[in-house]
Amino acid sequence: MDPESKIIVVTGGSQGIGRAIALRFASQGASVFFCHYDPDNSESENTETLIHEAGGTGKGFKVNVADKAEVKGFFKSVMDEAGRIDVLVNNAGITRDGFLVRMKEQDWDAVIDINLKGVFLCMQEVTRIMMKQREGRIINISSVVGAMGNPTQANYVASKAGVIGLTKSAARELASRGILVNAVAPGYINTKMTQILSEEVKEAFVQSTPMGKMGEPEDVAAAVEFLASEGSRFITGQVLHINGGMYMG
Ligand code: NAP
Repeated sequence: MDPESKIIVVTGGSQGIGRAIALRFASQGASVFFCHYDPDNSESENTETLIHEAGGTGKGFKVNVADKAEVKGFFKSVMDEAGRIDVLVNNAGITRDGFLVRMKEQDWDAVIDINLKGVFLCMQEVTRIMMKQREGRIINISSVVGAMGNPTQANYVASKAGVIGLTKSAARELASRGILVNAVAPGYINTKMTQILSEEVKEAFVQSTPMGKMGEPEDVAAAVEFLASEGSRFITGQVLHINGGMYMG
């Protein structure tokens, strides 16, 4: 399909990696529909403006990806406006870090609900649409720590490892329907999620990255673009690591 006429859905597109993904597709002229969670719409409105400045169309919706009814409503709105969905990028995610021994049950539940159940709910909705189309791409944003583990992130790591398993199972189920499902696993990337880390933790991440620096959201967006492109038409069930060499599989 011509990139200019593609319909793209990005969860968590109001800032960070999701915004970079939205803008990457917008710069090809695509229609980009994204969702976000914060009742303050200012970042979402900024992203909408940037999408139009980049040459695309589309808009933002306030949706909690962990809420089945809201997710259904989001996909219905996109279908009412666009009539098809070519690519879903499941990017929305949160952290609630803490040592396992002290981790609060609500911090476990919040992270699993948004990072893992949210991906499941969005995949289920879009799969119904893509099965009728007999084509589509689903790209799930996991994390390097989903493969490596990380102290103080048992909830987050479990969610991101879960996303990898979900990706592989869905890839096997959906390949015969023309739907390709892959994951992208970013390493240490410069966004609000990592800006809040202590200087020691940030330094430790840089030290453990052979390239000796953090990545930018655009580095992840480029990988997502590839997995949505014609060039990746024989790739499914894979995890593409974007991490400056931090983890080599
Ligand atoms: P970010 O800057 O904190 O952005 C997170 C995005 O997710 C925001 O748009 C946020 O919207 C949205 N979101 C959060 N909860 C949501 C919910 N319940 N429903 C819908 N949207 C929700 O994070 P980021 O660093 O760009 O991370 C993006 C993805 O990459 C996440 O899945 C993250 O786990 C993954 N990742 C990041 C890194 C990194 O180093 N940054 C590394 C590996 C993986 P609001 O602001 O409106 O709430």
